[in-house]
Amino acid sequence: MAQNHNPACRICRREGKKLFLKGDRCTGPKCSFEHRGYGPGMHGRNRRGKVSEYGHQLREKQKIRESYGMLERQFHRFFTEAQRQKGVTGETLMSMLESRLDNVIYRIGFASSRRQARQLVRHRHFLVNDRIVDIPSYVLKPNDRIRVKDRSKKVAVIHDAMQKTRDAKGMPNLQLDKARMEGVFLTVPNRAEIPFDANEQLVVELYSR
Ligand code: SF4
Repeated sequence: MAQNHNPACRICRREGKKLFLKGDRCTGPKCSFEHRGYGPGMHGRNRRGKVSEYGHQLREKQKIRESYGMLERQFHRFFTEAQRQKGVTGETLMSMLESRLDNVIYRIGFASSRRQARQLVRHRHFLVNDRIVDIPSYVLKPNDRIRVKDRSKKVAVIHDAMQKTRDAKGMPNLQLDKARMEGVFLTVPNRAEIPFDANEQLVVELYSR
């Protein structure tokens, strides 16, 4: 299965923003963005100059795509699907991204990052409506129930992540039952409910060129 192997911290430095791709490390003193906040590579420190409109659009798209850990082809497929649906394309795209299983596993607190969530899903630790799903890009529907498989309830990384989670990371569309290690994807979140600082309209403009 194709996946993004770019070093996570390098991605943050290139986008000029902390994207929280590595879980706990991102909030601690080891975050490399805190002491090397300039761009990666030999000329990272000296990069300056005016960024074109296209450059802005491209960087915003890359920021969103990398945050959700997707490759270009897959991200574009989501965009095309969002375009087909009713409503504002950029907002629909964000709602679709938030409905991915790996994202929900992360938001609900079963994993400390989307990368880790993807790995756990691939290792078949979760059930959706009582059936194992090992596809991180699986799109959830309202009222889908996500549960940690009984034999996986002792997996240390899931426990560690859950101990640090208080309330499904503040998402009103998710419900978590910590004791039973299960959660419900109540509704597809609208844009206002998604805590992600991005201008998705720039993605629409980029792909409409
Ligand atoms: Fe980004 Fe996290 Fe690496 Fe910091 S530790 S640079 S936030 S991936």
